[in-house]
Amino acid sequence: MEKKRKISIIGSTGSIGTQALEVIEKLQDKFEIIALAGGKNVELLKQQAEKFKPKFICHNSPLPLEGEGRISTRGTSVRNSGEGYKILTGTEGLEEICSNKENDIILVACSGKIGLKPTLKAIENGIDIALANKETLVMAGDIVMEAAKKHGVKIIPVDSEHCAIHQCIKDINQVDKLIITASGGPFLHKSIEEMKNATVKEALAHPRWNMGKKITVDSATLMNKGLEIIEAHHLFGFDYDDIEVVVHPQSIVHSAIEYKDGSVIAQLGLPSMHIPIQYAITYPERYEGIKSKSFSFAEIARLDFEAPDFEKFPTVKLAYKAGKLGGTATACLNAANEEAVFAFLDGKIKLYQIYEITKKIFDEHEVIKNPTIDEIFDVDSKIREKTKNYIEKLNQA
Ligand code: MG
Repeated sequence: MEKKRKISIIGSTGSIGTQALEVIEKLQDKFEIIALAGGKNVELLKQQAEKFKPKFICHNSPLPLEGEGRISTRGTSVRNSGEGYKILTGTEGLEEICSNKENDIILVACSGKIGLKPTLKAIENGIDIALANKETLVMAGDIVMEAAKKHGVKIIPVDSEHCAIHQCIKDINQVDKLIITASGGPFLHKSIEEMKNATVKEALAHPRWNMGKKITVDSATLMNKGLEIIEAHHLFGFDYDDIEVVVHPQSIVHSAIEYKDGSVIAQLGLPSMHIPIQYAITYPERYEGIKSKSFSFAEIARLDFEAPDFEKFPTVKLAYKAGKLGGTATACLNAANEEAVFAFLDGKIKLYQIYEITKKIFDEHEVIKNPTIDEIFDVDSKIREKTKNYIEKLNQA
C-alpha cells in the first residue's frame, strides 16, 4: 500500500486552510494529518479536529479550550482527555509543529507575518513546504530561499500564479521571462473616480476569486500583483525586469513562461484555489481529487488580455521599485500596505489612500541591505506603528 503523506496545516481555519481540508477529505487515503493550527476561531478548529483527527491542534485564543484548563504558559501542551489530540498555543505551538520531523510537508496557509518563523523552522528541520503565505517571501525571500537550498527543502507555491509557473517550467535555465496574469479585480473597467470612492463592499466584490478580506482588497488595488512579482522573483530567481504582468480578466490562464526560442507555455484551468492547493500538497503526484468538471475551451469561448494601467494601479510600480531596492524595502512595503488595508476595512480611509499612505511611508524608509530576521521584524513593527500613527493624524486633521 502507498504510504500516506503526513501533513500539517498552519492556518487551517482560514480561506486556504478550509479549502485544503476539502481537498484532503477527497484524498483521505493519501494523507495523515499531524497538526492543525488555527487562529482565534477555536470552534471551527475543534470541528476540524473532530473530523480529521490530528495529533496536535494549535490555537491563538486567550480562552483555553474545553479540556485544556491547565495551560499556564503559552506553548504548554496538555493532552485533552477523550479527544486524543494535544493542544498547543501561540507561536511556540507553531514552532513545535514545525519542528516535528514526522511531517512530510507543511502547508503554510495563514496570512500575514505569522507565517515567516514557522516556515523557517520547518525548513531547518528539512520539511517540505506548500507555501500560500506571500508575506514569508515578501518579507524575507532571500533568507527563506537560501535556507531551503541549504536544507534541500522543496517550496511548492500554492499562490495560483506561481503554482502555474511551477507547472510550466521544465528547464529553468532556458526560460527568458515569467508572465504573471492579473484578473484586474473589481475596478478594472471602472473609472479612477469610481475607484477612489469605492466602499469596502465594492472592494470586496472580487469578480473571480473567493479569498480572504486582506488579499481581496490587495487585488482591488493590484498590490496583490505587486507582492506576487516579489514572490516570483524569490521563488524562481528571476530579475524583476524579466517578470511581466498582464491583465487577463477571465482568470483562466493562471500565468505563463516564455522560453528563449519564443515558445510560451501557460497553465490554464478554472479559477478554483482547490487546484493549486491540491497540486502543492500532492506534488509531484496528481489525482482526480476535488475536480468537479472537465475543462472546456468551447464553454470559455474567449480569453482577453491587456496591459496593466499603471496610472490607475500605481501599486504595481511601487512593488517593482521595492523589489529592485531589496533588503528591508519589501518588508516595509508589505507592512505599510497591510496597515493601510486594515484601516480601509475599518472605514478609516478611502481605497485610493491605501496607495498614497503606503507610498509616503515607503519613501521615508531607510533600507537595510542584507537584514537579519530580527531586523526585518523590527522594521515590520516600526513601519506598522508609523503607518497607524500617520493614519490617526490624518483622521484628526
Ligand atoms: Mg495569486
